Amino acid sequence: MEWCLSMPKVELHAHLNGSIRDSTLLELTEGLIGKGVIDISEVEHIIKKYNRSVAEVFKLFDLIHILTTDHKTVTRITREVIEDFASENVVYLELRTTPKRNDSVGMTKRSYVEAVIKGLRSITSVDVDFVPRCEDSKSLFSSVPAIGHVRKKIYVRLLLSIDRRETAEAAMETVKLALEMRPFGVVGIDLSGNPNIGDWATYLPALKFAREQGLYVTLHCGEVPNSVEIKNMLDFRPQRIGHACHLEDEHWRQLKSSKIPVEICLTSNIRTLTIRSIDVHHFGDLYKAKHPLVLCTDDSGVFSTSLTEEYKYAADSFGLGRREMFELSRNAIEYTFADSKVKEDLRKFFNSVAKKY
Ligand code: 5GP
Repeated sequence: MEWCLSMPKVELHAHLNGSIRDSTLLELTEGLIGKGVIDISEVEHIIKKYNRSVAEVFKLFDLIHILTTDHKTVTRITREVIEDFASENVVYLELRTTPKRNDSVGMTKRSYVEAVIKGLRSITSVDVDFVPRCEDSKSLFSSVPAIGHVRKKIYVRLLLSIDRRETAEAAMETVKLALEMRPFGVVGIDLSGNPNIGDWATYLPALKFAREQGLYVTLHCGEVPNSVEIKNMLDFRPQRIGHACHLEDEHWRQLKSSKIPVEICLTSNIRTLTIRSIDVHHFGDLYKAKHPLVLCTDDSGVFSTSLTEEYKYAADSFGLGRREMFELSRNAIEYTFADSKVKEDLRKFFNSVAKKY
């Protein structure tokens, strides 16, 4: 399915540290061996495992964060992750990450985000648009020939994540930081982190403030059964939700009538055993119901996947052809948190290549 690779795609649910290249993770791990920072024997079995439970995935994230939370590495992985998405023809990426403090290297949440932005600025191999521009500035795809182009082009926008381990104050700090960083492409807030920890209501003041200030909000919703939380999240009416695995009948009704777009992460859900098997994945039902959907990777590094693989997986599993997959990708433009100028540029670009699919 070469067309899955060449097709322009939109990625709206990708965690920076979960998208780290295997080779970079290995290199960083090797660099720490013998330095007394981590005990490799304790984490080796988790790194090598194929299917990891949700709990094991979060253990792995703790390890990844030990390896990556310094300015230089944050800048490096941002650059690599964007290059990787661009190389598989992702033309619009919303990359999310949790701003972190690391006192041992003088890192604040602000300097963490600055390191991410430095990564964005440092890319030279592809054309990256991440700073929202004025009305009369040129569109990224305005000079692209209708069929094929050599140099990749990608819009990147950032979401700052609140981790469910954080306090209400720390969440508010993240929202204020997002507001400050809007001129550098931060468009929204995500709530993520171990779904078995914390109470999402802790973050309601920060999430409401974000919304009042014009930031978009997406929530990880229904990764584990939690009927009350799912209902309350849907009542909050975020602009998108991620996963939506453990909804009950009344939640499905509410979701479908609300038309809140769902970020679907097939491989992630199957690998973490959140969904029993692909044939019972809710993608099938939501697709048939024409509910707004977008296929995403979640953590392409941790789950050894790519957006191309996710498109193949959906096409194979649900019997969808290239035209249907193209429309799925094109529809995702409408669910981005981009401004109208970027959406219009993307629509024109998709229109210009539509006849290939
Ligand atoms: P980071 O925010 O450090 O760039 O990316 C990794 C973090 O994203 C994890 O520590 C976790 O908080 C969040 N994350 C990544 N994948 C998932 C997922 O599948 N579910 C949830 N709830 N959070 C995730």
